[in-house]
This record gives sequence, C-alpha cells and structure tokens, in this order.
Amino acid sequence: MTAKKVCVIGLDGASPLLISAWLDELPTFRRFRDEGLWGSSIPPLPAQTPVAWTTFMTGKNPGKHGIFSFIQRTPGSYQRRIAAPSFIKSDTLWQILSTHGKRVGVINVPMSTYDRINGFMIPGFLDRQEGIPQPQSIHELIKRRFRVNTMPGDVETDILAQARSNPDLLLDRIDEITELNAKISLHLLEHKPWDFFMTVFMGTDRIGHFFWNHIDPAHPNFTHNEFTDRAKQYYRSVDKILSEFLKRIPSNTLSILVSDHGFCPVTREVFLNNYLQQQEYLHVRDQKVDLARSLAVAYGYGDIWLNVSGREPNGMIKPGHEYQHLREEIIKSLQNIQINGESPIQQVVKREDVYWGPYVSEAADLIAIHNQQWQSARRPEILLQTSQSEYFRTNPLWSGGHDGSHNPEEVPGILGFLGPDLNKERSPLKAQLWDVAPTILQYLDIPIPQSMDGRPVTLDN
Ligand SMILES: [Zn+2]
Repeated sequence: MTAKKVCVIGLDGASPLLISAWLDELPTFRRFRDEGLWGSSIPPLPAQTPVAWTTFMTGKNPGKHGIFSFIQRTPGSYQRRIAAPSFIKSDTLWQILSTHGKRVGVINVPMSTYDRINGFMIPGFLDRQEGIPQPQSIHELIKRRFRVNTMPGDVETDILAQARSNPDLLLDRIDEITELNAKISLHLLEHKPWDFFMTVFMGTDRIGHFFWNHIDPAHPNFTHNEFTDRAKQYYRSVDKILSEFLKRIPSNTLSILVSDHGFCPVTREVFLNNYLQQQEYLHVRDQKVDLARSLAVAYGYGDIWLNVSGREPNGMIKPGHEYQHLREEIIKSLQNIQINGESPIQQVVKREDVYWGPYVSEAADLIAIHNQQWQSARRPEILLQTSQSEYFRTNPLWSGGHDGSHNPEEVPGILGFLGPDLNKERSPLKAQLWDVAPTILQYLDIPIPQSMDGRPVTLDN
C-alpha cells in the first residue's frame, strides 16, 4: 500500500452559500459532496484572514497562537502593527509534519513563513518573503520554467484601490494570478516529493468583497448583472483547477477543500469612536482620538482597547474593579446603539469569554460583533466622522464582508474531504476551522499535540 498523503486546496473566503447555489455547474465540488464529505467550517473570532489561517495552521484558538487581528497592539504601547508570521506563538501544522519526517509543500497560505520546514514553500500574504519560492533550488526552478521571479499570491493594492472604477481590471488580474498559481502549484505537485501539499487561491475572497451584491440574492442591494456571471465563471475555473489536482494526486491521498471564512452582506459602516466620544469615554484633539486622554478607543475591526494603568503608557483605569465596571458600562452603551431603528451591534464580548490560553492578555479588551449588513468603519480609523450628525456611513467600498467583526457562525467557510474510506453518512459536516489540523495529523498517524483545541473530524466509521 502506498503511503498516506494529504493535499489541501484552500480557497480564501469561499462561501458554502455560493457553492451550493451553483453546484449544478461545479462538477468537481459536486464530487466532494457526492463521493466524499461536505459541509462548513466555522472560523475563529474575528473571522479575518490572518487570524483564521493561523487558527487553521495551528489547530488553536487565538488565545494560544497570539494572532487576534489584522493590526495588533504592541504590548505596553499605543502603537499598532500589521500581523506577521513572526508573531505566531505556536508550532504550525507544517512544522509538526516536518519534525515527524514528512515532506511538505506549502504554497500561498496567508501567514505562512519558511521556517523549520522539511520541503518547499512559497510564503503567502503578510510574510516578508511573500511570493518568493524557497529553498533556492525551487526558486531557480520557478524562474527557469515560469519566467517569473516571484509568484504573486494576491491582487496588487493599486488594482484593489481602483476596483470600483475599473472592476474588469480587478477580475482580469484575479484570473491571471489564479492561472499562474495553478500552473506553478500543479507543476510542484507533480514533480516534487511531498507527503503534505497545500495551496491557497485568493480570488474567491476578492470576488466576495467587491461583488457580493451581485452574487448573493439575499443581499439587500442584489442585482444580477455581468458580474454575477463573471463571479460564477471564476468559481467554474476554480472547479476546473480542482479537477486537475485530483487527476494528479496518488491514491491513498486525502484531499481537503477548505476556506478560512465566508461572507455576509455589508451595506453600512458604523463609527464606534463617535459613540465612545458621545459617552465621554473618548477625547479628541485635532479631530483625532487623543489616545493618552481617552478611557477607550475602537479600531476598525471591532477591537476596543481600554487605557489601563500599568499597561498603557498613560493608563487611567485601575485594573480590577474599575476596569471590570467600565467594560460592563461600555458593553451596555454599545449594545444599545440604535441607528434608524436598527442595532448595528449584535454583541460586545470580553476577551476572556471568547479566548483561552497564555496570550489572551494580548487581545483587545472588548470585541464588538456586528450584525449582518453592518461593519466597523475601517477608514478613517481613529479619526472621527464629523461631516454628518449620524455616526454611520452608507455605501462602503465593499458589498460583502466577514471581518467587521461578524459572528463566525454567520460567515462560515467551506470544508470538504475526498479520499479512501470516507463515510458519506457523516455529511453534511459542521466543524470548527481548528479541527482540520488534528484531522490531518490523525490521517497521517502523527500524534495530536495536547495543546491543540481542535478535535479530528471523524471521516470513516
Ligand atoms: Zn480570508
């Protein structure tokens, strides 16, 4: 019998909603449903790309891996920095596999980095070496064969910035990038040795953000137009790529389809800092939040930080009773916001109620979870919205969201398995994203670290 292998195809932001609606035209996705196991995976809170892929690759909740947001506070300061793989405080799936002598190939996974890897990697989004194949021999191979120095993993920011005025440019670039990623991934899959192979396509996420109002009939501004067809066409081309993978993988391979989150409609953004100012928790200087004189500040992902003595440089709130009391007050005040008779906030949660593990103290003090259609205003981040008396804005850049922050149950990702000895009766699946890593370890007969939060998904009888 050939050795067991695992091949994971990640589709950033792919939504089970779209795939079930379009299944008639997606024969390879349908194979996962009809011949394998199919269902959804619940992302961590917040359902943001760096947080969710880190949860995938560690099998842990953010309190144990240390990635809580796209942009994290530097402990002991008001400074924030963009999340990076160097902040991850846990072994990853590929490091564990490497330790056990497995050969890994990891391509374009956001937050992955070439460190203690037995195999090859093209690091993805947020790594300093994003797109640069490693080790050198693989880099040379890619340069020689594909005539590129790096593999672009995602659409460039200048194209994203003009997505509204030039949506076709965005869609054309997504197609180009997907095609090149597929060619490079398939070549490495076929010609390099591996026991675990994984590649991620980002196009599904970009299409979700910019075209959700043309693809989700439940969107309040839904209109069917040429973008509906182009989005579907993109899923069809991904389906075709999946079929190419399935043709090339050896028997005894477990194939896994997974996304880090899905989407919900977004039509409005709320400026939480305006409400914090109204309640006198926040003070302003030159239209900017005065961090040193404020009791609390909200950042554009629903993260709310308090100004605690002994923790922040100009901390004003005593830890203990005063801190707890103020949090309760702010929770009540934000949960009570009404805008034209609607509540933008579904729930405000304390960090220790949603995270566990040694790094909980690096999370925001409170996380505001927004109802569907609302998201936390992303820009301007800590300026105040002064041009209108109401503290919200319609018509945000994106019509689909997942990280504003939203209830993970309302933005599920996909999860599918195809391979030997699967018990189809287990469908439809509903697993947590952190269950995937232990499932892979169990399939490859590698012990699951005690510290993982996930439990293996039962695949057979
Ligand atoms: Zn994502």
